[in-house]
Amino acid sequence: MLRLPKTSSLLWPVLRQSFAVTLFSLALVPLAAPGVTGANRPGDAAATQKFIALTFDDGPRPWVLKGNAEAGHASASLLDLLDRQNAKATFFVMGWRLVAFADKDCRKIDVGMNCRQVAEEEHRRGHEIENHTYGHGNFRQMKARYGEDWILNDLDHANRTIESITGEKALYVRPPEWDVWPELAQKIEARGYRLMSKSTSLPLTRRDVDSEDYFCAGRSLAKCPKPSDYDYVLRSIAQRERQGVEQHILVFHELPQSVELLSRLIPELKARGYRFVPLRTYMAEIKR
Ligand SMILES: [Zn+2]
Repeated sequence: MLRLPKTSSLLWPVLRQSFAVTLFSLALVPLAAPGVTGANRPGDAAATQKFIALTFDDGPRPWVLKGNAEAGHASASLLDLLDRQNAKATFFVMGWRLVAFADKDCRKIDVGMNCRQVAEEEHRRGHEIENHTYGHGNFRQMKARYGEDWILNDLDHANRTIESITGEKALYVRPPEWDVWPELAQKIEARGYRLMSKSTSLPLTRRDVDSEDYFCAGRSLAKCPKPSDYDYVLRSIAQRERQGVEQHILVFHELPQSVELLSRLIPELKARGYRFVPLRTYMAEIKR
């Protein structure tokens, strides 16, 4: 669990308050103008908009992104699903999968593409690629073994690999298992990265919403949310809505089960008024 440095947690209430003051003063202007209804007040647009950033960790996995029919791993194409639903997503990739020596793993279920090629396709189709480290080493273990500088270099290594595909630097980092501590978090952010986190010290709009989809595949089925992961994600969103929050960063993994889950979830959330935007758009819009 990420604990941010004290300064950050102290700063948030101040920032939130000044944001509220700004919104309040913006709201005063149109209220004074005749003929402008409350619903149309400029400055309220961000507050009334419902949008979601879909994010996917641990890829790229060509057999999930492109789809395959192999027994036990069969999956519809995640990229085609996102296209059909007109949803742009953000992929937090592991850098090591994007280089030649990963080809064997990437073509374990061969769909005629390696990971690098499918990442190029993600980029071409308008999705974002962000940083889930190069080696996916747990930060605590990596620190004990190699020191904190090694972790920073690992992030930079992943970033260079991503840049060679997208032409631009990754900005956001999601640590494996969200495991990071204040001193390291500060060093990562001082390097120009922004950390993704589930920390309760963040405002709800900035906090990752864990779908727990990884419990619904492989050996951990007993921990898969009941009665279903579909129900669990909708419940998590409803809970946030009750707190007045209509923007959510949802975290999934590139798993066949998650493609099936999203094939039902995306249409349902659309019917509830949500649209799907890449993470950078999401972050820009919640700041507006
Ligand atoms: Zn991961």
